[in-house]
Amino acid sequence: MSGGLNRRIADQLEALRQRDRFRQRRIVEPTGAGCARVAGRDCINFCSNDYLGLAQDPRLRAGPGASGSAASALITGYSPSHAELEARLADWLQRDRVLLFPTGFSANVGIIDALLQRGDLAVCDALNHASLIDGVRLSGADKRIYAHAGVDQARRALAEPVAGIKALVTDAVFSMDGDSAPLQALSHEAQRADALFYVDDAHGLGVEGGDGRGVAGELSQDALPVLVGTLGKALGAAGAFVAGPASLIAYLENRARSQIYSTAFAPMTANAALVALDIARQEVWRRDHVHRLVARLHARLDAADLPVPDSRTAIQPIVLGSDRLALRVSDDLLARGFLVTAIRPPTVPEGAARLRVTLTAAHSQEQVDGLVDALADSLVEARVA
Ligand SMILES: *Cc1c(COP(=O)(O)O)cnc(C)c1O
Repeated sequence: MSGGLNRRIADQLEALRQRDRFRQRRIVEPTGAGCARVAGRDCINFCSNDYLGLAQDPRLRAGPGASGSAASALITGYSPSHAELEARLADWLQRDRVLLFPTGFSANVGIIDALLQRGDLAVCDALNHASLIDGVRLSGADKRIYAHAGVDQARRALAEPVAGIKALVTDAVFSMDGDSAPLQALSHEAQRADALFYVDDAHGLGVEGGDGRGVAGELSQDALPVLVGTLGKALGAAGAFVAGPASLIAYLENRARSQIYSTAFAPMTANAALVALDIARQEVWRRDHVHRLVARLHARLDAADLPVPDSRTAIQPIVLGSDRLALRVSDDLLARGFLVTAIRPPTVPEGAARLRVTLTAAHSQEQVDGLVDALADSLVEARVA
């Protein structure tokens, strides 16, 4: 390896370690819905995105389907299962058409890069997902970032004269905070400015809104022409999609490089997503239960004099501030049988390290109560230590 690169890597790793920012994957063995084994310890998993508790459901494993798709969708990787999944997603979301992507990250990067170019303007929420940020970067469009959920700032940015087209790009549910974007107001601003409205509802689809259509579910295709969702969160499978007008989807089928030059996800995965979509729509108790757990968590945190997150979705961040405190409490919670990851910068702003608690339909009220008790004890110990 190049000597210069060796030094760069060593310096970067050392800097990360010194600032408590070094990260490592750990082996997490799923042991059932809402549970996992980590380093030989059985624990309750409070940090998965499996909001409806479907990822372990045996019904998702049933049925035929090759374990690989063997090609990109435009070559031979587009199976009857993929086609049916696109049709069913379009029907659910009341869109003309849907186009599948290998992952949500590649969807955002590929779609934004295909839609925007130099001379265009992307107006973005300050807390947008990394994949939206990278898509804008790759496209070469100019970027204006407005303060989180700041409709007035977004309006001002959209009023700027530009040579090309304008786009307003936002998460629907913010992945590290759990709050929702003011989508109605933003949609209105986008329409006034003749801008494309682009929303990624990775965390809302399946769990929020009528029929689980997400926090953007109330917006028609006219009001929201580009709706991105993933299949690996509430739907417990993997992959992602964009839903919108037929001409836009046909264009992306021809121009989104991350869809054209990447192997389609497995037909098996499409089948799992099809089953999950049916379950998500039929077993309404799943999303109702998540929301009951959110209310329970808030009540218990409040009673324990702990900060109550400003979020009504399954994502419930407990902001602790310092990286070290977040790490220490996360480790201590694991020792008590609760898996809750510490999220540190650069994933969240400096000084805003947190525990990202996620609630799922697989959890019980007793488990939520147990988590709050353990959290209260861990915090007392960490602050004394
Ligand atoms: C998770 C996530 C993605 C990425 O989806 P993957 O399928 O995991 O690649 C994109 N956008 C948002 C808002 C997400 O939370």
